[in-house]
Amino acid sequence: MSEQREFDTRCVHAGELEDPMGSPHTPVYDSTTFAFKNTADLLDVVEGRRGGALYTRYGLNPTIQSLEGKLASLESAEGSLVFSSGMAAESALFLAHGRDGVVCIGDAYGGTLDLIANQLPLLGIPTHFLLGDELDQLDAILGQKPGLVFLETPTNPTLEIFDIAAIAEQTRRHGVLLVVDNTFASPVNQQPLALGADLVVHSATKYLGGHSDVTAGALMGAGALLEPVWGWRKNLGQVPDPRTAARLARSIRTLGVRVRQQNASSLLLARAMEAHPRVSAVLHPGLESFPGHQLAKRQMSGFGGMLAIEVDGDGAETTSVVDRLRLFAIAPSLGGVESLVTQPVTTTHHDLSPQDRSRRGISDSLIRLSVGLEDPQDLVDDLTRALG
Ligand code: PLP
Repeated sequence: MSEQREFDTRCVHAGELEDPMGSPHTPVYDSTTFAFKNTADLLDVVEGRRGGALYTRYGLNPTIQSLEGKLASLESAEGSLVFSSGMAAESALFLAHGRDGVVCIGDAYGGTLDLIANQLPLLGIPTHFLLGDELDQLDAILGQKPGLVFLETPTNPTLEIFDIAAIAEQTRRHGVLLVVDNTFASPVNQQPLALGADLVVHSATKYLGGHSDVTAGALMGAGALLEPVWGWRKNLGQVPDPRTAARLARSIRTLGVRVRQQNASSLLLARAMEAHPRVSAVLHPGLESFPGHQLAKRQMSGFGGMLAIEVDGDGAETTSVVDRLRLFAIAPSLGGVESLVTQPVTTTHHDLSPQDRSRRGISDSLIRLSVGLEDPQDLVDDLTRALG
């Protein structure tokens, strides 16, 4: 499917195989291996003279390859690789491109921070962390020729916005790769490759899967950058099984419709929370009061379905607000059709020291909300009642 088609059309049709039996979408090929007419035919695939199915763990399976065509089209990328989780995508990426060093800008998902801070150094990989107010140090670190710079925007959970085009300009000058975790924004709202990033990573477990029933990850970018990652994915055995791949492709067909509704509902909720006397701060890129609002308006086409609120009270009072919610389920994930709530201090950022949390603006009173597809007024009512 040509890249000229509009985003929603690509969500439905990109990558789909023409099925001889007439299925309107790619069927599930559960097979672990694929047979050939003769040895010459097999060698054509093994030696790369033609594409085709070979062995599922390699990702050479029609259901997985079809999904990868769809994933690539979402970010207007030359190619994509699908993984068994977002962390699988990140770890293969760091092993392939980050061995000379990984720089993490801003806040990030707790698992990402743990991998970069505690596990990559065990392999001798130098790692650096720069928060948003420390970017004046980036040039000096890039001068040490790390392998890549990694950032989320908006970040988890404070929704800080980073200027992808400006940072890409800086990394390119030093010949260092820029990787953007586009999980929070989703490709509906933000296209990092078009802004100059080299690679995009997703926890497809979130908006791409969209129904809290798929665990998967994705990496999109130029074929030459994906190739070394492919080898790590193959030998670490990080390919999702074909049924998971088919379910993810099913979910992506409705991605645009879901995320646009989540954008609208989360903004409505953010405005309602701004007016609530028990809420001391509302973090949502769509609010005029939000520090990153102007930048978000420039580089995003929608503001996303996530928001965070600061309850006017201590950690225990905040927990009791969370516990009084009925529609929002207490769960450490996001991006699904069901609204979810988490107090980052109890989940995603539980393992950081109190000092480190405070540097990152994550207080005990912070609540992160993932807005689903329920009627937005019901969600406002639920929050208002829980806040008392
Ligand atoms: N990136 C972000 C922004 C996340 O929120 C998460 C998980 O919560 C991940 C990456 C890791 O993804 P997964 O849980 O699919 O491994």
